Amino acid sequence: RLPRNLVTMLRTAVDAHPDAEALVELGGERVTYRQLWNRATRVAGGLRAAGVQPGDRVANRLGNGNDWVYAFWGTLLAGAVAVPVNTRFADPEVRYVLEDSGAAYAIEPGAALPDGEPLEVTEQGHTDLAAIFYTSGTTGFPKGAMTTHENFLSNVETCLRCLSLDRQQLTTLISVPLFHVTGCNSQLLVVTATGGRAVVMPVFEVRAFLRAIADERVDVLTTVPAIYWLALQQPDFADVDTSSVRALSYGGAPIAPDLVHRIKEAFPTARVGNGFGLTETSSVSTYLPDEYAAEHADSVGFPAPVVDLDLADADPGTGVGELLIRGPNVVAGYWRKPVQTAESFVDGWLHSGDLARIDDEGLVYVVDRKKDMINRGGENVYCVEVENALAAHPAVGEVAVVGVADPMMGEKVGAVVVPLPGRALDPDDLVAFARERLADFKVPQYLSVRSEPLPRNPGGKVLKPPLREQGDWQPVR
Ligand code: ATP
Repeated sequence: RLPRNLVTMLRTAVDAHPDAEALVELGGERVTYRQLWNRATRVAGGLRAAGVQPGDRVANRLGNGNDWVYAFWGTLLAGAVAVPVNTRFADPEVRYVLEDSGAAYAIEPGAALPDGEPLEVTEQGHTDLAAIFYTSGTTGFPKGAMTTHENFLSNVETCLRCLSLDRQQLTTLISVPLFHVTGCNSQLLVVTATGGRAVVMPVFEVRAFLRAIADERVDVLTTVPAIYWLALQQPDFADVDTSSVRALSYGGAPIAPDLVHRIKEAFPTARVGNGFGLTETSSVSTYLPDEYAAEHADSVGFPAPVVDLDLADADPGTGVGELLIRGPNVVAGYWRKPVQTAESFVDGWLHSGDLARIDDEGLVYVVDRKKDMINRGGENVYCVEVENALAAHPAVGEVAVVGVADPMMGEKVGAVVVPLPGRALDPDDLVAFARERLADFKVPQYLSVRSEPLPRNPGGKVLKPPLREQGDWQPVR
């Protein structure tokens, strides 16, 4: 039932709805499917002329906008593999991704898109690699999740089924980055499958977000809890016409039950639901449908139709274990990282690093994380990566990074630092040092400088729970 590959999916939409709007860049161009196809085949031609061959990796460093989408499709039409790069990465992180992916070409902001004669399309197989999305890594280095055409297509199918939407042309508003799986896989590609419209925000701004919902008659709204939180804070939210919204989902980060209730009241025409997933599952793995959204607001719902779930090492008392995920949406492993692939993908089961329990009805509750990670409003920060960066500072003796609770972001990044004996530590200097090495969202927003050593277990591992609970955080930016 699924198209053979993403290019077939796009071509089907182009053939069925050549004159329908495919893309709207807020404040920019409106583009039909025919125009999108023409533009993308020219990018493909430009890439080929530049020497890009099928299977080569093409890095995409653009921010949200129509050009990002031309670059994505142009890469696939050339038979190459798209490597979306987080635009907030600092120089060393970008260099790492370009080198690790072995990118043959990088599409850079500020430069013209590669443009050539329209290229005859390179057909790709269902299980061929289509993209590599980089996630922050447990070892301190980003890992490339190898996403196949089948992975993408199964997520498109899952989203359409979970949102209980027919295949009529849908309009979505993309307020999250296209270089992450929510924006790309669960929004852009889902509406493309229906011959619908993706309204893309080049930058997020809450007033423009609310205006676009009304002006563009958005019918599927998907974004992270922090954005709903901001939207509902707007004093004149009640005046916004949200009556076009038929389906609304939140995910990417834990949501407070109170916010779910407020969303349901604020969008009375929408079926709402919680989507849980990872980059490694090409986006959605579980979904909490509207009937359950209010009463079980603390749950991430049921497994998606094609997904199997299990728990590893479940505690007999609490039933909590590591959530394992298997299905056609689980990626093929980490690019050129056989050791980490073998650790995380075991007999077809992805070890998610999330700790969960499953109740008698089959509802899944994510209760904690095994992975040492902070979820800052949907952007993941692996503590070890920040710890490594800070530990390189000449005045730092010991450092531990933990999440600090925040009403909007869920968590923000906090660093507990013990200076080397006899060394003075200037917080501003430490933050500036971190900024040169890390994406802005990973740079600590809170510091706690202490003189006594960090608490450790007998194995020498830092005990983070007492650090999370401590109260003497100093805001540093
Ligand atoms: P995106 O890449 O678009 O941000 P994502 O957040 O689903 O999508 P990752 O960045 O890989 O993907 O983050 C995955 C982690 O985010 C999960 O392992 C989990 O800890 C957390 N997470 C994702 N969705 C939810 C949710 N609905 N509720 C609670 N936690 C979530």
